[in-house]
Amino acid sequence: MPTAKAYAAFSADSALAPFVLQRRDPLPQDIRIGILYCGVCHSDLHQARNEWNATTYPCVPGHEIVGKVLEVGRSVTKFKPGDTVAVGCMVDSCRTCPNCVDALEQHCEHGPVFTYNSPDPHGGGMTFGGYAESIVVDEAFVLRIPDGLDLAAAAPLLCAGITTYSPLRHWKVGPGQRVGVVGLGGLGHMALKFAHTFGAETVLFTTTPDKAADARRLGADEVVVSRDPDAMARQAARFDFILDTVSAPHDIDAYLNLLRRDGTLTLVGVPPQGVQVMPFSLIGGRRRLAGSLIGGIRETQEMLDFCGEHGIVCDIELIPIQGINDAFERMLKGDVKYRFVIDMATLNGESSGGR
Ligand code: NAP
Ligand code: ZN
Ligand code: ZN
Repeated sequence: MPTAKAYAAFSADSALAPFVLQRRDPLPQDIRIGILYCGVCHSDLHQARNEWNATTYPCVPGHEIVGKVLEVGRSVTKFKPGDTVAVGCMVDSCRTCPNCVDALEQHCEHGPVFTYNSPDPHGGGMTFGGYAESIVVDEAFVLRIPDGLDLAAAAPLLCAGITTYSPLRHWKVGPGQRVGVVGLGGLGHMALKFAHTFGAETVLFTTTPDKAADARRLGADEVVVSRDPDAMARQAARFDFILDTVSAPHDIDAYLNLLRRDGTLTLVGVPPQGVQVMPFSLIGGRRRLAGSLIGGIRETQEMLDFCGEHGIVCDIELIPIQGINDAFERMLKGDVKYRFVIDMATLNGESSGGR
């Protein structure tokens, strides 16, 4: 089996460090991809540090993958060597349950196979993600990057992009609506771009007043500092839809109370701790609290094509793989502008000391 250089977490409280992993030999329907870029999602940090209590070590994070096809299995029809391709948060699913048939593989009744830290149906063990030089994926879960997009800046579309695009589409965000985005990080900055492009009046809620100018450049019509009680009070009952991307515990009632009658607050952020909600925040105004998980493969391709048509990519800081632990620390401080992307060529500077 081919090996690949990678970076892995070896425990919840150790820094990520070099690792050599094995990928399966491509099966007939598989593609072997040489990874060029991989975005750094806050979910990578949650899982590397076992904040969701479900991590198996060693854990190789990374689910915002862009690369070139190196090799295709004999039954592959959609791709050929040299194509630019992408892989997001899933690498397989059962494909036959009602949710898979509806192209919502993220809700597969048997559990999708996530790109990392998921039981691997092929080789046993757990799947390893994109902080690595290569990956082998069934062509049904490989996406196409439209021509003209910067490849490093497109990588975070595979999670931050689809995770915000999908709920904004599902709840039909568009002209005539007032839409809130909570938190300006990787997901939040893409939510601003999409909500603005879809024609909604878009308002950012942030704990960081210094991000206001960037937020306006990214598509916000208005910026509200959520730590300012008067500013929050002025927004009461004014929103049709709010997308909450915050990665840490915070006050959910404060945002429910900003919804109009029949408005929806959708959570995409996954703080390790549960949320508390006062029933009064929901019953007054018949408000709804919802959640959303990434998006299906078909919708992910739709989102990528939409980004190609509209010239939308992510605002990124390109880092060497050796900078991943600093990037995690900055992410914890909310100091991300607005997504770290690893330049995987920097793995070649590593000696391949396997563990
Ligand atoms: P990120 O880049 O770190 O952004 C999170 C933002 O939340 C920060 O930039 C900050 O924005 C705000 N924030 C952080 N701590 C806060 C606090 N204590 N109180 C209030 N606001 C705070 O993270 P991300 O990659 O966008 O991911 C965000 C969350 O979504 C994570 O929990 C991640 O696991 C989850 N996620 C979910 C899905 C899904 O399918 N549902 C997919 C991907 C990621 P301000 O400085 O503007 O306040
Ligand atoms: Zn992610
Ligand atoms: Zn299924």
